[in-house]
Amino acid sequence: MSLRTLDGVDVSGKRVVVRVDFNVPIQDGVIQDDTRIRAALPTLRRLLGRGASLVLVSHLGRPKGKVDPKYSLAPIAVRLGELLDAPIELANDVVGNDARAKAAALAAGEVLLLENVRFEPGEEKNDPELAVQLASLGDLYVNDAFGAAHRAHASTAAIASHLPAYAGDLMVAEVSALGALTSNPDRPFVDILGGAKVSDKIGVIEIRLSRVDVVMLGGGMANTFLLAQGKAVGDSLVEADFVETANRVMQQANERSVELLLPIDVIAAQGMDGQAATVDADGIPDDWAAFDIGPKSAASFAKVIAGAKTIFWNGPMGVFERPAFANGTLAIARAVAASGAFSVIGGGDSVSAIEQSGLADKISHISTGGGASLEFIEGRELPGISVLEAKS
Ligand code: ADP
Ligand code: MG
Repeated sequence: MSLRTLDGVDVSGKRVVVRVDFNVPIQDGVIQDDTRIRAALPTLRRLLGRGASLVLVSHLGRPKGKVDPKYSLAPIAVRLGELLDAPIELANDVVGNDARAKAAALAAGEVLLLENVRFEPGEEKNDPELAVQLASLGDLYVNDAFGAAHRAHASTAAIASHLPAYAGDLMVAEVSALGALTSNPDRPFVDILGGAKVSDKIGVIEIRLSRVDVVMLGGGMANTFLLAQGKAVGDSLVEADFVETANRVMQQANERSVELLLPIDVIAAQGMDGQAATVDADGIPDDWAAFDIGPKSAASFAKVIAGAKTIFWNGPMGVFERPAFANGTLAIARAVAASGAFSVIGGGDSVSAIEQSGLADKISHISTGGGASLEFIEGRELPGISVLEAKS
């Protein structure tokens, strides 16, 4: 896949509408993690350095098409100003009078951030009218919001029909790293999947079976498979509706000679605050729940990871937010970091876990997209990317 990049594009004196993914965690008005803002800086600096002015578009949370001050981008404007070391103008609407006036007044090198694009009901509907209004704020369109690329929304898809459209540097880096996973990866290729969103992710495993050599499962994902094998899982997080899917996945893995690895032991407790104990994965007592993979599982997973040449990891192995249940995820992080394999990690919590471990710089690529990275490696077409593809 080849994208229309910014190489050689003359942006001097132009107003560029840049779709960024500033959907960062905010608590009581304080940004908890600014990774996604930082990830957009190379594109923004490059455009500003070449004499453009910028109209930035982002969503934050799910305000569902209504103005909700709780989801204002105001804290983001402040943080971005600090990072770029320049004042950032914040419009108090998306495509209203304020946004239009402030966009029109921009001089070269200046930056305007529009209010949360999801305050507009047309955004998630990919409304052509909203797309035209957004497009009218600039001369060019750049999409750097990989994390939103799996959505066909007005600011990620429809807008590209109304302006010359290009991929930003982050978008290019994401597509290049994830593309390396889907075209001729070095083998053995290992998928590591965990986390809590079983229903969202179980379909991924099925599709991935045709591409990988090993799938290892941990976290909440593993519990549903243990249940499907008829094991006692106590009070563990499971999605009973997906037992049938889990059985099908295990059968297909078997037919395709893909090694599907489940935990053999787990760290369990009676509730997250209870005393933790290591128990065999086939005998989790009633009232107890598995909150992490156990040391034997971590060691056997680590051995397989050591021999891998390509690794994709989405979803922590346990409730890593709590020290009592973080060891499995940490052990896997260490194994991936030491493997020397081409490694890609995606998913909001998975990325926090690897940042927490201090091993992030040993990972080949840390994706800013959770859902988007999963859809990409499933081989699906992402609407926010296909509109940026160079026609050959
Ligand atoms: P990501 O954000 O990387 O896509 P998910 O959102 O699917 O990952 O899952 C992350 C969450 O899963 C974490 O908050 C973690 O505490 C939780 N989790 C992991 N293992 C378990 C488990 N065994 N039981 C309950 N929750 C778990
Ligand atoms: Mg998550």
